[in-house]
Amino acid sequence: MRTLYVPGRQQAGGQSRLPGGECYVDRAARVSEICGRGLRVLHGAGTGDCGRSRRVPGWSYEGNTGPDHWADLSPDFTACRIGSQQTPIDLLNAQKAEVSIEIDYRPLPLRLANNGHTIQAAAADGGAVSIDGTGYDLAQFHFHHPSEHTLDGVAFDMELHLVHKSGAGGLAVVGVFMKEGSHNSALDAVFNCMPLNAGGEVLAVERFDPAVLLPKSRTGFRYTGSLTTPPCSEGLVWTVFQDPIEVSREQIRRFALLFPNNARPTQRKSDRGLAEAR
Ligand SMILES: [Zn+2]
Repeated sequence: MRTLYVPGRQQAGGQSRLPGGECYVDRAARVSEICGRGLRVLHGAGTGDCGRSRRVPGWSYEGNTGPDHWADLSPDFTACRIGSQQTPIDLLNAQKAEVSIEIDYRPLPLRLANNGHTIQAAAADGGAVSIDGTGYDLAQFHFHHPSEHTLDGVAFDMELHLVHKSGAGGLAVVGVFMKEGSHNSALDAVFNCMPLNAGGEVLAVERFDPAVLLPKSRTGFRYTGSLTTPPCSEGLVWTVFQDPIEVSREQIRRFALLFPNNARPTQRKSDRGLAEAR
């Protein structure tokens, strides 16, 4: 059995629905709604920390547990400092190319979790990609604000990461820049239903097609990199598309209220080639 969860409008206490905006709440999930947007906490999680996620103990994006200190926090995190294939990096427009990737996504129920570091959608049934003959199943996608990769030294407003896993355990991540522009109604289910607090989880909509997250062009960048969060494991196949998708200022603002900065700074490129696979 599920409880209907109706996000309010911007005014406090409003019962009206946002465009596209019914969300269904998992019975067992601890769910809170977007603070200050006329929404209320449904299960636990407290109302006193409107606007920001509570920090999960461990690593973070600032201060003594921020990116410069990740390697000090656990012996498992040493790659964050000594790795030679770390992500993100600055991408150079001059090195873009047509990247070889076959994408076969399919609609899935959109389950969003606030894990204290980002909003992440579980996407185990969302299809797969094929890169140079290796198949990788979509596992999850999540968001960063601002972007982690930069293009000629410039960051975008946000970046989406679609994380895929091969049968052998290899990881391939597809990065999509997001920039301020038109309202993106295809992403209402994400931006209207984000759980406010760390630990919050919501079934946002029954059917969401991950393909709406992709730009049309397959021009971009391919390189070997790492997770951008601890333990910063290496050997990941990165594909970052050149063209951004657009989201509205309000959509960005909603995410930024929860995560003012959840982007790791750019890392040394060392001798890695960009767009090495075509
Ligand atoms: Zn990421």
